[in-house]
Amino acid sequence: MLSEAQAIAPKLIETRRTLHQWPELSFEEYRTAALVAHRLHDLGIPHETEVARTGVVGWIGNGDGPTIALRADMDALPIQEETGLPFSSQRPGVMHACGHDAHTAMLLGAAEILKRHEGELRGRIQLIFQPSEERIGVDGYSGAKLMVEEGVTADVDVILGLHVDPSLEVGKIGVRPGPMMAAADRFEMEILGQAAHGAYAYLGVDAIVLAAQVINTAQTLVSRRIPAIHEGVVTFGTISGGTRENIICDRVFLEGTVRSFDPAIRNQLQQELEDVAAIARHLGGDYRYRYFRGNPPVINDGQLTGFVSRIGGQLFGVDHVVEAPKTTGGEDFSWYSCKTRGSFIRIGAHNPAWPGKHRLHTADFQIDEEALVVGAALLAQSAQRWLYEYDPEHWRHVENC
Ligand SMILES: [Zn+2]
Ligand SMILES: [Zn+2]
Repeated sequence: MLSEAQAIAPKLIETRRTLHQWPELSFEEYRTAALVAHRLHDLGIPHETEVARTGVVGWIGNGDGPTIALRADMDALPIQEETGLPFSSQRPGVMHACGHDAHTAMLLGAAEILKRHEGELRGRIQLIFQPSEERIGVDGYSGAKLMVEEGVTADVDVILGLHVDPSLEVGKIGVRPGPMMAAADRFEMEILGQAAHGAYAYLGVDAIVLAAQVINTAQTLVSRRIPAIHEGVVTFGTISGGTRENIICDRVFLEGTVRSFDPAIRNQLQQELEDVAAIARHLGGDYRYRYFRGNPPVINDGQLTGFVSRIGGQLFGVDHVVEAPKTTGGEDFSWYSCKTRGSFIRIGAHNPAWPGKHRLHTADFQIDEEALVVGAALLAQSAQRWLYEYDPEHWRHVENC
């Protein structure tokens, strides 16, 4: 299937560049979804649109056997592109700076290859073109969470997702069994005091001083409260309060993010961060605390990750399959991989000859488009082979988090 992917390389590149020129923000992927649906229609692949609002889901093969799902995300970011590429974004202030244009093109390429082999498939392949990976809406839903809630993956046995990686050389595949990316939660705190004249501080309760205590104490959660063998991050991202230099501030608003891998550590940080906020009450003030759970951690299934490593080694050579780092970034692929066996794979997209870093979520983000062939071939070959080798004893249902 690698040679088949190489044969359609010009089409993969053209698709990716078309998507790159017309990036759309989370849950606004109308044009992107229309392009996907149009391509699936041309390939004769049955599909549904408006799944999880602006998503598209298609099927190849037959539903009697097992089902493997392949997932691509489609949304872009509110960034003004500064790459200077001839196929730069045509939409001011919106850019595919996370490579989701590439993921969509790779999955369309894999679909084209797999459709040709439909007669040989021993089961079903579900294609998931997912909206809104980047953003959790005000209702608490990202695209993947909504897909799962709508029951899209109810019959799925295993799921694969991938992400281009500008820190990994093109041609390489990064895999990691077990925890790979962190649970990403958000919190809000209000520290409440009592206003007074700045010259008579003792008559009030200074919310700024209370907030300072809270922020400093929160730094000890990761260093002193969670076991050293576990990881966590507590970040205050915003702070605001006060009106004038000579008024004791009565209210400080704080906002931040919490990252963790282990469910028990996640619970602990959520609870103990509130205990820290409660310092304000002990010192004569008060607090309000709200914690919003975002994406769960990405925990890759060991067996499935081993399988993909083997396929990657067969396609590209074992020296091209490397261990991906564990990171405290978040990814909503976790909504799928918590409920079923999943593996999230990094596709190298860095061209060593290029100057600059081209990091994700930056205005000069770029990928080496050779990565498109790698991703399409890996998805197609893994899906076909997994169905072929499937044995129900070996692949019993597992929830990973
Ligand atoms: Zn992103
Ligand atoms: Zn992304």
